[in-house]
Amino acid sequence: MIILKTDKELSIMRESNRIVAIVLSEINDMIRPGVSTYELDKFAEERILGLNAVPGFKGYGWGDRRFPATLCTSVNDQVVHGIPSRDVILKDGDIIGIDVGTIYKGFYGDGAYTYAVGSVSDETKHLMDTCEKALYKGISAAREGNRVSDISNAIDKFVRSEKFEIVRDLTGHGIGRDLHEDPQVINYNNGVKGKKLSRNMTIAIEPMITNGDFQVKTLGDDWTVVTADGSLSAHYEHTIAISDNGPEILTKV
Ligand code: MG
Repeated sequence: MIILKTDKELSIMRESNRIVAIVLSEINDMIRPGVSTYELDKFAEERILGLNAVPGFKGYGWGDRRFPATLCTSVNDQVVHGIPSRDVILKDGDIIGIDVGTIYKGFYGDGAYTYAVGSVSDETKHLMDTCEKALYKGISAAREGNRVSDISNAIDKFVRSEKFEIVRDLTGHGIGRDLHEDPQVINYNNGVKGKKLSRNMTIAIEPMITNGDFQVKTLGDDWTVVTADGSLSAHYEHTIAISDNGPEILTKV
């Protein structure tokens, strides 16, 4: 069931997602060789709490399987859900996808960005650029009267035109009082006509692409998703609302 938001709920979601965007933008200045993902996580947790929200991912999960940190920090072949650690030190030429979640007044914010550490190769830059552009292609299709599959197909078409692969096992999602609500927003064209998009729907669009194959696996920590073939992966995400004037990006400063 897709939960439409009231205008009041949307204004709360704007703030929750603004906090996500602030953290992502400030982390940009911390990304450099020698920094640990633990340090990034510690910064993000304190910053989110200081902005009167709480980390949205910490403790998220079911039963005994709870995500232990504020950020998901996914380096190189890690696609998503990497766990911050003092032992993960960024090196020149790495890329790191950082996913930030918040809860503000009961509503989630969710956004992600992939950063280059020091200088990366042209191929890596191309992978990152393609993923970010694919996100905006998807956002452009998120209009009232279109279907969820129009978002998926816009992402698919663009990524394929650049000859990269799209991770299929992970998807975007509706978002609100729950981190994951209907509809699921897949990032590739599976030939199925999706649900209609309507005003005041809020969705997180998040393509994940690789420079190798699309298959992924989960590491023994039960969280970290990596590419099965060790290829590089990029991930960008915005939470948006569908308004009368088209898509409104909520994850912005
Ligand atoms: Mg998400």
